Amino acid sequence: MSENNSSSSNTILRLQDVKKYFPVKRDLLQQIMRVGEQQYVHAVDGVSFEIEQGKVFGLVGESGSGKSTTGRLGVGLLEPTEGEVVFEDVHLNNLSGEELRKMRRYMQVIFQDPMASLNPRMSLGEGVGHGLKIHRLVNSQQEFRHRVSEIFEKVGLTPGDAYFDRYPHQISGGQRQRAVIARALVMQPKLILADEPIAMADVSVKAILLDLMVQLQREFGLTYLFITHDLATAKYICDRIAIMYLGEIIEVGDIRTVYTNPKHPYTEALLAAVPVPDPRFRRPAPMPRGEIPNAINPPSGCRFHPRCPIAQDICKTEHPRLLEVPGQAGHMAACHFRTGDYIHLDPGPLINMNVAMVE
Ligand code: ADP
Ligand code: MG
Repeated sequence: MSENNSSSSNTILRLQDVKKYFPVKRDLLQQIMRVGEQQYVHAVDGVSFEIEQGKVFGLVGESGSGKSTTGRLGVGLLEPTEGEVVFEDVHLNNLSGEELRKMRRYMQVIFQDPMASLNPRMSLGEGVGHGLKIHRLVNSQQEFRHRVSEIFEKVGLTPGDAYFDRYPHQISGGQRQRAVIARALVMQPKLILADEPIAMADVSVKAILLDLMVQLQREFGLTYLFITHDLATAKYICDRIAIMYLGEIIEVGDIRTVYTNPKHPYTEALLAAVPVPDPRFRRPAPMPRGEIPNAINPPSGCRFHPRCPIAQDICKTEHPRLLEVPGQAGHMAACHFRTGDYIHLDPGPLINMNVAMVE
């Protein structure tokens, strides 16, 4: 179920049928009695995708769908239970700890909580530039200070030198997130994993930070693996997106195609839930009630079937493969009735996607 079976030459990252299962902690009694089968959280369950150099690839889905785990697997912060992660033709699975550590320089991470990402006891300059020293990329303290100050200016912390000696608690939340972006950039990475990078910022700063990330991506020709639960954010920054549900990719394609022509009922439901700017207009919210089921015992067949408005019996038993939408190269979905074997029996668009007037 690969998104692309043949790698194009400018693929920077490729995940091939990657799985990550976490053992569920057993309670004390179970441990003492040695009873109960060991259970696993199927956090990521057979995910494949490729990211092209210089592009922004989005992972979108509800909380718990496996976005962060997929991201961490992609940059070698987690080891897959199964499958392959290939960064620039290097199979990360085969690397020793030391080789992987060296490789990490090229794969930087921006997490959502800047306070947790910055060491409160280190000055901003020392904290942001830490990696330069670890990887011995500077020869003197003077050069170090210069490199870090330069990056501060790139992320809008000006004058850069003035920020070097400050501490994380002395600046605003928005400025801290800029510093975290600077910490990734200073390493001159090839790939940046941005895991909900603006989720914790004040509403007033969100758009500014997003613009900054777009501008930096263009200026440095960066590649982002961009994680968000928010489709509006994804639409703004991503070239391609993959929609995740319970550890699987259920739809993937160019952002415009997925947005205007979603194929999976779950994608349709997510899109319908995106707020529209004019409050007089509201889309009907077709997302069926019910929580995202747990990832220890995912539903049989299509994992979305218990919540799906068009599910039929087949959906309870047969797992739909991620298949190309007929006539739309690069756009794939996993739904029996939209791309699969039962496409000729399509029960129809039961979800009304038209914009409805609300009094
Ligand atoms: P998302 O980022 O989409 O919210 P995550 O990748 O964080 O999803 O989590 C996917 C699933 O894996 C969730 O059910 C979560 O509870 C579980 N999970 C994530 N990390 C661990 C871990 N270290 N140990 C056990 N379960 C985990
Ligand atoms: Mg997450």
